[in-house]
This record gives sequence, structure tokens and C-alpha cells, in this order.
Amino acid sequence: MNEASTKTRSKTSLETWPVMEHFYTIQGEGYHTGAASYFIRLGGCDIGCPWCDVKDSWPAEAHAQYSLQTMVQWVIDSKCKKLVITGGEPLTYNLDLLCEAMHNIGVDCHIETSGAFPYSGSWEWFTLSPKKRILPKEENYQKANELKVVIARPNDFKFAESQATKVAPKCKLYLQPEWSKEKEILPEIIAYIKANPQWRISLQSHKYMSIP
Ligand code: SF4
Repeated sequence: MNEASTKTRSKTSLETWPVMEHFYTIQGEGYHTGAASYFIRLGGCDIGCPWCDVKDSWPAEAHAQYSLQTMVQWVIDSKCKKLVITGGEPLTYNLDLLCEAMHNIGVDCHIETSGAFPYSGSWEWFTLSPKKRILPKEENYQKANELKVVIARPNDFKFAESQATKVAPKCKLYLQPEWSKEKEILPEIIAYIKANPQWRISLQSHKYMSIP
């Protein structure tokens, strides 16, 4: 098992950030499904999940750079009060300043992360989505408000249970079918949750709605 670097790339408020895309939409996954949310997808990920549906995000240098002030303005213009930082792997970067700037304009900050890099930022909602290739840092398990495990094949249930032993008791537990395997795996997830009702299902509902 590889281990992610213990160093994140620090940022100052004057530096720029690689952004693959940003958009105002409806959160499609997990506990906040259905909530209007502004998404910023940071470029850069070293994890390498074979089923990744945003492989274009991997090389940070492939993405245009934006200042923190520009990102704040996007959110102000949207009038949305809920920001989701995703990737890529957003904890590749130290996110303290980004969260501080968003909180200063009264916006809640949510993150979706594999947790493979050190914790940074200050989050109203921390979604931990562990990946087998590089497991989360220990410090990130206890930060999780939501554990979301992608299920592509039956032996992923065992992985999900192993990850659930590490989070806090109040953490919400979600199983989410891997999109390209959904037809095959969905019945197994439904049966699993009926037998193990501490879990809930997370569907990528934005894909059903054909929205980003
Ligand atoms: Fe893709 Fe996320 Fe895995 Fe990175 S951690 S390879 S962005 S699924």
C-alpha cells in the first residue's frame, strides 16, 4: 500500500489554485443530497483509482489557475451559501485560507476527500471517501461527518466495514454504487443495507438528473 506524502502544498492568499471546473448545482450524493451547492473541483490527484470518473482532474498542471479572490467572487455571485470543495484530491493542498475566506462571506464549507493527505481547513461537513490504493490518514477518520464508500464489487463491502470501525459513532455511513457497475451491484447493495441498516445508500442522483 502506498502512503501519501505527509506534506501538502501550502497556499497563501496571493497564490493561485488549479481549478478543473466550478458550477452551481444540486448536491447529488450523500447526506446533503438535494441541497443547492456551489462546487469547486480542484485539479490534482495522485491516488489513481482505476474506476475514477474524473481522470482529467489528475494532473494539476493541466488546469487553469485562479486566485482565492476569484473563487470567493464566484460563490458571492451565485448567492449560494453552501460550498463543496472536491477534486481531484482537494487535501493535496492546505485549505485553511480557502475556508477562512469562504467563512468570511458567510458560506458553509463542505469537502469530499479520500483523506489520504493531512487534514486542513475548517469544515461544516467532512465527507470521507476512503480509497484502497492509499488509505486515509488516521487523523481524518475522526473528522468525518459522513463515510462514503464506493462499491464496485462484492468484496468492497468488507472494505467498507473495515473503514466504518475507524470513524466516530455519530458519523453517517453510506454505500454508493460505482456508476459503471451500478446495474450489477445495486441489488447487492440494497440487500446488504437491509441486512445491515446502519448503512444508507448514496446514489449519484445528479447523473439521473443530467446535471453536473
Ligand atoms: Fe479519482 Fe477521487 Fe480516486 Fe482521485 S481519489 S483517482 S479523483 S476517485
